[in-house]
Amino acid sequence: MIMKETHYWPATESEAGLNEAAAALAAGGVIAFPTETVYGLGGDARSSAAVQSIFKAKGRPSDNPLIVHLAGPEALGVLVERVNEIERTLIANFWPGPLTLVLPVRPGAVSPLVTAGLDTVAVRVPAHDMARRLIAMSGCPVAAPSANLSGRPSPTEAHHVMEDLDGRIDGVLDGGPTGVGLESTVVRVLDGSVHILRPGGVTLEQLQQALGPNVPITEQHTISTDAVGQAETPRSPGVKYTHYAPRGDMLLVTGGNSERLISAAQHAAEEARRQGRRVGVLTPAEHADRYRNITHDIIVCGSIHAPETAAHALYAALRECDERGLDYIVAEGYPETGIGAALMNRLRKAAGGHELTV
Ligand code: AMP
Ligand code: MG
Repeated sequence: MIMKETHYWPATESEAGLNEAAAALAAGGVIAFPTETVYGLGGDARSSAAVQSIFKAKGRPSDNPLIVHLAGPEALGVLVERVNEIERTLIANFWPGPLTLVLPVRPGAVSPLVTAGLDTVAVRVPAHDMARRLIAMSGCPVAAPSANLSGRPSPTEAHHVMEDLDGRIDGVLDGGPTGVGLESTVVRVLDGSVHILRPGGVTLEQLQQALGPNVPITEQHTISTDAVGQAETPRSPGVKYTHYAPRGDMLLVTGGNSERLISAAQHAAEEARRQGRRVGVLTPAEHADRYRNITHDIIVCGSIHAPETAAHALYAALRECDERGLDYIVAEGYPETGIGAALMNRLRKAAGGHELTV
């Protein structure tokens, strides 16, 4: 592809950066910007040329639709046909925030490339001042997947974006490290139930709390689409792709008893080292010392007692695995409550199904 000059706006120049980045978006450019989840790569959702540049810069498969980001819920009417009562409750409780709603798209409102030809569009309002100001100043609904090369961990700092996309996009607005560190929760409301298509920054427990006991919430990732309910297709096209994988092989070790978990992880790491592999361990801070006599490559990822710190640190930790040239990574699992559910979903993807439960 033809290389571009990628402009970098440091956090200290954010006012000038916002003006220039908003103008670039309005002119059909593609700009990476911080949100509370991860850095997004934005383009005018109405422009097929801009959206095509996003797919091209990322190397993203064209059948994986994009999330449209708005400055506020008022802009929703232009994009979607209707919003039902449950959806209204979700919007009232979680916007701005890391919750994406899949809604019936108003024909012609966005480029068909954004929705990958579906009759729905995924929408959210980010809880990040710089992101909302950029979107408002650009005057566009902004289609924005994560600002990484397809298959790489999502960027949680501006330098991650530069590592992946320098020369492929028009600019990067640096707003410091992102907060949540994992992507938004994607939901679809159908027949009075809320379906979680992708776990993320808004937790199941928070959804339950907001919706009360009368709204069922499901977490299956497939849906029956034919008349007799036989063919299963992914509800969210993105879930069929392998994401977030470091270059080395990863083994995820899980189980409720942490002593057994640690001892299985130590064993797996020793075994791989004996086979001559460059082994690293991805572990919560509390357990880091347990691996010091096995490897120097200990990558600390948050605290076992505060899963939000592990969520915040995960993608940078996965990138570090690559920087250190690890070819085998043993990762400890975390408790799956709250944001731990989304954290474990991403760790399972990173491990590509290699999981040892003790
Ligand atoms: P990303 O942009 O990488 O954060 O991924 C966006 C996620 O939203 C992917 O998992 C998509 O499959 C999902 N998504 C986007 N639009 C739709 C839609 N119209 N219906 C269902 N899922 C969608
Ligand atoms: Mg992504």
